[in-house]
Amino acid sequence: MVTTLNVENAPPAFHLLVKPTGAVCNLDCKYCFFLSKEMLYPGSRFRMADELLETYIKQLLESHQVPEVNLAWQGGEPTLMGLDFFKRMIDLANNYKKPGQTLAHTMQTNGTKLDDEWGAFFKENNFLIGLSVDGTKEMHDTYRVNKGGAGSFDQVMRGLEVLKRHNVDFNILCTVHNANADHGAEVYRFFRDELGADFMQFIPIVERANETLLPLANVGWSERDGGERPLYVQQGNLVTERSVKSKQYGRFLIDIFEEWVRRDVGSVYVQIFDVTLGSWVGQHNLCIFSPTCGTALALEHNGDLYSCDHYVEPDYLLGNIHETHMLELVASEKQRQFGQDKLDSLPQYCLDCDVRFACHGGCPRNRFITTPDGEPGLNYLCAGYKDFFHHVSMPMNIMANLLDQQRAPSEIMAVYAQQDAAQAALLARTGRNDPCPCGSGKKFKQCHGKKQ
Ligand code: SF4
Ligand code: SF4
Repeated sequence: MVTTLNVENAPPAFHLLVKPTGAVCNLDCKYCFFLSKEMLYPGSRFRMADELLETYIKQLLESHQVPEVNLAWQGGEPTLMGLDFFKRMIDLANNYKKPGQTLAHTMQTNGTKLDDEWGAFFKENNFLIGLSVDGTKEMHDTYRVNKGGAGSFDQVMRGLEVLKRHNVDFNILCTVHNANADHGAEVYRFFRDELGADFMQFIPIVERANETLLPLANVGWSERDGGERPLYVQQGNLVTERSVKSKQYGRFLIDIFEEWVRRDVGSVYVQIFDVTLGSWVGQHNLCIFSPTCGTALALEHNGDLYSCDHYVEPDYLLGNIHETHMLELVASEKQRQFGQDKLDSLPQYCLDCDVRFACHGGCPRNRFITTPDGEPGLNYLCAGYKDFFHHVSMPMNIMANLLDQQRAPSEIMAVYAQQDAAQAALLARTGRNDPCPCGSGKKFKQCHGKKQ
């Protein structure tokens, strides 16, 4: 058992992603620049030692002053540690938890190593599993390949079957890139109808590069002949060919939203929609859309603690938890400044933006383009974010009002059903090439006669 620790300015809770195998993974996804982070630890075996596992758990549970503590595993591929490692983890966590503390176990995995033993273990310990799938087999296999270059879709589906067989809660994590970004509704329906998913996240792939690195980066971050690969750092204002385009990402989200808001509100959870509704009622539930950040850190396999999973780079190393308690590192001035910089570095264009309350400039890692008047520091995804937030403004207002009246946001589906019925009736009365009766001056088919 542990006691609560008092460190000045420490947050009551924080999120820590643990990478027990560092960046090591059995797959070799072409867009995965995390793979290149192996280069930060030359000669390492990339396995978290049992002694560090115990130190991490003890410090994590000591540090939290909230009843529920999340133990979050990520990679690389965490299942490469083997099941026994995680069984030891559960024993240690149960041993060290404080009275009244409950533990929430989560793991992000590519799913290719899962079997019934893993499934039973996850279920027994109430794990929430994040499974990486990029859409249909063709979309997924474009970039999510193994070391031999073959697509991993079939193996991942076998992993998903394990999770379903054991009734393990899962969440689909889909990265959005040039192979799936034009197919938002198709991707969404595939997850909902074919995979039976009711929790989804859509993460944009933005692989930044400078002119020198771009040709290498376009080939991918996997090992080259001779075992070498380029090291990814947050530099340059160009992006790889695989990266999603800004407006394309906005369109992808809008296409999914149009389907979701008509039939799935309350039954399918799409992270960005939920977070956006949160912003509409004054809550910030995700670091990238919060005014400041700094409470989502990453722990490497050797105890090095970094400011964020996206900043596992030498400049953002806070220290090692073998030498300094993690809470002191989390509460350090360096980390406070890291989180505050998200707000302080906003360009004027963002400060004046009508959807800043929902966007807050997005994640700093993607702020590498210039504003229309030439100020640096605008988010590469700005145009897409703007399109999305503007598009969902009316329905978000409706859902926020419903919440305010203590009614379910899902009532919005009836509003859309009515609106769609009225539109269909109008379409039946109006030729698609006639002027739209709304007075826009456009043809009806280009205005209110658009097919959804
Ligand atoms: S840098 Fe980005 S991902 Fe990291 S904590 Fe800040 S907003 Fe979140
Ligand atoms: S939508 Fe664009 S301008 Fe507005 S806050 Fe976000 S990044 Fe800044």
